[in-house]
Amino acid sequence: MSEILMDNLEAFTSLTSEIAGSGNVAIRVIEKNETICFLEGEKCTLEEIIAKVENAQEEPSDPFAIGEEFYIDLDEKYRLFNHSCSPNTYIRGENEMIAVRRIEIGEEITFDYSTTMHYPEEKIIASGHQLWTCDCLCGSKNCRGIIDQFKTLTPKEQAFYLENKYMPDFMLKLFEK
Ligand SMILES: [Zn+2]
Repeated sequence: MSEILMDNLEAFTSLTSEIAGSGNVAIRVIEKNETICFLEGEKCTLEEIIAKVENAQEEPSDPFAIGEEFYIDLDEKYRLFNHSCSPNTYIRGENEMIAVRRIEIGEEITFDYSTTMHYPEEKIIASGHQLWTCDCLCGSKNCRGIIDQFKTLTPKEQAFYLENKYMPDFMLKLFEK
């Protein structure tokens, strides 16, 4: 268990996760529609992120997309939000994390990584890298078994996120018709 940061305003802390490694867990009740935090870190371009991955300063799973070719290299505590195919939060605007339902103390806080995933595929492949995907072990009933780009979700799954606007702005712009 990592050190618990006692910040009165903080709604979460990192603990050993049932999904993967460490995860952020609610340390107080979080109400539906509440803003939990803003996912902060250094803003980077695709090229800067690729350089960081090549220099082993960054895991390919870590960058948080805020545009097709723009990312936030998340500060440590914000990296620990795991993916779930049945998440209890979503990302609004650029990097605001909002609860989609009431979250009880001790529940892991998750978002659906696919709602932020739309790769500039040609550029990534031209740089000699693969498009990042990951086996999913989230354990939810509707688990897709893989974490992959938004476009790989079923039409029904995509419609759910789009109709509820449970996605960051750049993704809404790309996928709203
Ligand atoms: Zn899953």
